[in-house]
Amino acid sequence: MSDATTTARQILATYDGPRLRIMEVCGTHTHENFRLGIRKLLPPQVDLISGPGCPVCVTPVGFIDEAIWLAEHGVTITTFGDLVRVPGTSKNLAAARADGARVQVVYSPLDALEYAKEHADEQVCFLSVGFETTVPAACLAVSQAHAEGVGNFSLLVANKTMPNAYAALKGSADVFLYPGHVHAITGTQLCEDLVEQGVSGVLAGFTAKELLTAMAVALSKAKEGKPFFVNAYPRVVKSEGTPAAVALIEQVMEPCDTEWRGLGVIPQSGLRLRDEYAAYDARKKHDMPVIEGHANPACRCGNVLRGEITPEQCPLFGKVCTPLHPVGACMVSGEGACSAFYQYGGNLS
Ligand code: SF4
Repeated sequence: MSDATTTARQILATYDGPRLRIMEVCGTHTHENFRLGIRKLLPPQVDLISGPGCPVCVTPVGFIDEAIWLAEHGVTITTFGDLVRVPGTSKNLAAARADGARVQVVYSPLDALEYAKEHADEQVCFLSVGFETTVPAACLAVSQAHAEGVGNFSLLVANKTMPNAYAALKGSADVFLYPGHVHAITGTQLCEDLVEQGVSGVLAGFTAKELLTAMAVALSKAKEGKPFFVNAYPRVVKSEGTPAAVALIEQVMEPCDTEWRGLGVIPQSGLRLRDEYAAYDARKKHDMPVIEGHANPACRCGNVLRGEITPEQCPLFGKVCTPLHPVGACMVSGEGACSAFYQYGGNLS
């Protein structure tokens, strides 16, 4: 065990400060804090609560319905695997595939573009969800399709950005555990600005040492009693972020209002393709009608994503809703809080 890890464990073990709610904004942090046993090391007056940082989880039901509409109108859907099992209003993409729709799992938007080039007789749409971390790859695929004149490729966009989500979440936690991957793109200025508004946070990496360090920093700074921000992931996150990726996003997409599952519509927290790239916008290209989705009213994903309840407080958790038979997106996604609690919750002391 390194000196830094030993010191961090000592800080957690001897914490005598105020009660603290730390929000894991990023779904991967939720999973890693469980998997690495970090939760067990936290003092009793510290609560870890889940946040809205799982891209699949915050994508509203209507988006799945839109994808199914495209699939049922002859468009080949290309997507990351998680989205295939997320319930839409009446079915999921896996059921649409069983009914004859073409749904292909890919590992990146560029894979989807390659598929489109290899299948010139098909209209191919990539389901573009995710935060600033994944948006540059989608923008690169569109810009490449544009440059190469690929006419049978489009995106169904539900990408989201974090700045206004943090504003919407203000007050729901004492400390944000900021998502390292997002800020590797956007930099740290936003987190520093939030301190001026009384919002505290620590930018965290994903290894045991990095997470322990981030927790120890959060607890030590919280005892000082004033708002703070610390970048505890400096090996990856630089204050300036990744300007080339930000420039690519700004070239291809522009901000728009968007709906988050559980949080409603947050102004200017989404992205859409700019007019110059309208030919790659699946909604426009395929004359899609406005589709409104309806989530299962018994699912409490919204409360989980707002940090109001833990997944185990949902009456369906582990009974009706399991990873094999998910009722809501938070049980499907590899970054979802319900899936993390189901997978690792039994290990809690
Ligand atoms: S346990 Fe299932 S039904 Fe309950 S909130 Fe999570 S995903 Fe929704």
